[in-house]
Amino acid sequence: MTQSLPLPDNGLVALTRTSLLALRTALFRDVGPNAAALLQEAGYAGGQQVYDAFGQWLASHGLGSPDSLAATEFGIRAGEFLREIGWGAIELGSLETVATVDAAEWAESDPGYPLEFPGCYFTAGMFADFFGRLAGEPVAVMEVECRSMGAARCRWLVGTGETMQHVYDQMGQGVAYDAALTTA
Ligand SMILES: [Zn+2]
Repeated sequence: MTQSLPLPDNGLVALTRTSLLALRTALFRDVGPNAAALLQEAGYAGGQQVYDAFGQWLASHGLGSPDSLAATEFGIRAGEFLREIGWGAIELGSLETVATVDAAEWAESDPGYPLEFPGCYFTAGMFADFFGRLAGEPVAVMEVECRSMGAARCRWLVGTGETMQHVYDQMGQGVAYDAALTTA
């Protein structure tokens, strides 16, 4: 595969998947549930560079800027880009009033270290900034299925803060997220 995205020029560093998972495991072990917010904050902080790198990647493929792509094309290209930089491929879709981001094998997920809850918090933060930039307004991102909890894929919902709060509250009462979305 040709290297189409020089890492140093795009503010990126290569990090091994093992280190990322070890960091997450250590944070949850020593900090407890607050680790989620710390990982989310770190992911969010890097969102702009990831978005800019995606723009560079598109340009190097002669494909224009991220916001000039049609939705379907955006999903395909973002999937290729994220796979190429090591995170894994994504598929974009929609469910009721929210967008869905599905990944069959995401780098932050770890079926070997099972959790009782979705565990890709760094990614949720990164996606919140990334998709917020694309949407031109703040978005909230919540992971509702995760390979770390035995699911076949990771799935994040992307929508308004109000909708995500509703889904979160409903899930806390035992309602499935897809059912919660029908009443959002
Ligand atoms: Zn996950």
